[in-house]
Amino acid sequence: MTAKSTLMIATRNPGKFREIAAFFADLPLNLKSLKDEPRIGVIEEDGRTFVENALKKARVVWKVTGGTGTSPAGGFVLADDSGLVCDDLSGRPGVGSARFAGPKATDDENNRQLIEELNGVHDPSRTARYICALVLVDPEGKETVVEETCEGIITLQPAGTGGFGYDPYFYVPSHRCTMAEIPLKVKNEISHRGKALKKMHEFLKKHL
Ligand code: IMP
Repeated sequence: MTAKSTLMIATRNPGKFREIAAFFADLPLNLKSLKDEPRIGVIEEDGRTFVENALKKARVVWKVTGGTGTSPAGGFVLADDSGLVCDDLSGRPGVGSARFAGPKATDDENNRQLIEELNGVHDPSRTARYICALVLVDPEGKETVVEETCEGIITLQPAGTGGFGYDPYFYVPSHRCTMAEIPLKVKNEISHRGKALKKMHEFLKKHL
């Protein structure tokens, strides 16, 4: 029997771990999260782009876990960063999406900030996109970067109770409703994160 490689998913968020792990469940990988790795503290997301932040997280975690291999077959590390980019706000909230209304802001507070800043901005200018960057580092240190987007329009009124973050205000023209009104299974097919994870899955399947 050959030993499974480890895939360390660089997050402590159990929801995010479950979501990402589900995409890789069919691959011969031993999936772990940072909850299994007490040697790594908080990694500050101080990059100017989503790719910079994902690269930073992936490299820090790989240095501690990947290079030495957490299994006999060696370890992979996967890190992500994502957020919302609004055209009329020159790209904000961008890499600061989680902290738009302040360092410990809730989703509701961030949404309120977004709607306030877009006050007086009308339809053709309320275009926005979600972006997700994923970085995979293989046991030898080789990096693979994937970035995907999902286009939308920021609505005036929220709708839907699904998803999280900015989803109740993120109208998806192709589905004629907000992301919060779209079932998770469908969101996973069309979202920035879903598309990036699918690409990474194809890459890993080929290279394992
Ligand atoms: P992170 O990638 O976990 O750091 O997420 C950054 C922030 O971007 C989240 O806290 C949300 O505010 C926003 N965001 C990222 N992806 C989504 C999404 O799929 N729906 C709604 N908000 C999102």
